[in-house]
Amino acid sequence: MELHWLTIHQLKQMLREKKVSSLELTQALIHRIGRIDDQIHAYVTVTEEDALQQAKRADEMIAKGEHPSELLGIPLAIKDILCTRGARTTCGSKILADYIPSYDATVIQKLKAEEAVFLGKTNMDEFAMGSSTENSYFGPTQNPWALDRVPGGSSGGSAAAVAAGECIGALGSDTGGSIRQPASFCGIVGLKPTYGRVSRYGLVAFASSLDQVGPLTRDVEDCAILMNAVCGYDPHDSTSVKFKVPDLRKALVRDLTGMKIGIPKEYFIEGIAPDVEKAIESSIELLQKWGARCREISLPHTDYALAAYYIICTAEASSNLARYDGVRYGHRAAGYRGIVDMYRKTRTEGFGPEVKRRIMLGTYALSAGYYEAYYRKAAQVRTLVKQDFDHAFKETDVILTPTSPTPAFRIGEKTEDPLQMYLMDVFTIPVNMAGIPGISVPCGFSRQGLPVGLQFLGRHFDEETIIRAAYTFEQNTDFHLRKPPID
Ligand code: GLN
Repeated sequence: MELHWLTIHQLKQMLREKKVSSLELTQALIHRIGRIDDQIHAYVTVTEEDALQQAKRADEMIAKGEHPSELLGIPLAIKDILCTRGARTTCGSKILADYIPSYDATVIQKLKAEEAVFLGKTNMDEFAMGSSTENSYFGPTQNPWALDRVPGGSSGGSAAAVAAGECIGALGSDTGGSIRQPASFCGIVGLKPTYGRVSRYGLVAFASSLDQVGPLTRDVEDCAILMNAVCGYDPHDSTSVKFKVPDLRKALVRDLTGMKIGIPKEYFIEGIAPDVEKAIESSIELLQKWGARCREISLPHTDYALAAYYIICTAEASSNLARYDGVRYGHRAAGYRGIVDMYRKTRTEGFGPEVKRRIMLGTYALSAGYYEAYYRKAAQVRTLVKQDFDHAFKETDVILTPTSPTPAFRIGEKTEDPLQMYLMDVFTIPVNMAGIPGISVPCGFSRQGLPVGLQFLGRHFDEETIIRAAYTFEQNTDFHLRKPPID
């Protein structure tokens, strides 16, 4: 198989055995990006020169017999929401189109310490607000499985880059589904860690009580490797937790015997595509055959999670995005009269329509007299959603749901109707509200040949069990081995 289709764990072996050098590998990927990315638009910025330098350094270390990590010399892509020192970080927005951070996000520092190679920054919905990557100032990303379809979002560029063979693995961020939903649309693996597991220092803030950084990879083993590299307490992020980080590779066990899997009845709603329902049902049958004990459970407040999320995330966003004032960061409008006019013009020009919609909704929800009716109510609903999960996990080890109600939809299909777009995250949002971990793995294809994903959810800080469930499922199936028809 060509180099660009291999996994981190395969390449690690080949690099150590000197069957390939990191430079050859990096050049192959840069060549691939040059050849196909005008069809996919996964990247906003390709950092070719830096990548080649990093690859050369990795090769020197290999030549000296130094192997500090599993990611040594492995080319990765980074969602353009993570600050990268010296490389522009746009967050998919005009307002940050020329912003060059003076520091690296903690997760980037960690990957640098592992001597990974950085190919560039990937496209995303502006400020991670969206489910299709169509809300990017830099234009949409195409799904490698069908170029007229979206890759999902908001980490659509990272998901498409992994799926199209334009990087070996990638990082994304997930506030309401932005890692798992694009992973399912693109036929790859995506994990949202427990809130507090991964540092958010240097992650451009959208909704701070929900945001988490996580990996997008070709298989579950690679997911464990990337997770191992980025997890852990960080004094720069007061929400990161000082729990011992387990070696997630140890969770790569192909065994489900006795595992209790709960299937929430509230997730099989009207509007779920028949192809998705079919793929999930046959997955449940397979899991049972391999020794899992599946049974129906109830998460009674599921219905209210989506509405509460759109109050909480817009409220937090309206406050977080106040910092883009034309003074401290990025774009400043020309030809203003006085400071208020400067703010107004800068923000009018700098933000796209979805970001403006959210700032307005959030400002409204937080304003005097409405706070109790909206924000406080939403916070109360959030507690109920979390309690649903706490209750369910008393009798079940993992929860299984579809990742998204439909496979990838057509570009332009939902842009006129924000509510339809918001519904794409109906199965992923409650997970962020509760702060628990979730992983999406490929579980089938629609009749049109589009990937379908299933989601395993776990208890707080129990990434191990969902990785074990996902690994067993993957190793007994071959959905993750199929490649999109792009060349
Ligand atoms: N699609 C959801 C939203 O638009 C989730 C986005 C995300 O997880 N960043 O808010």
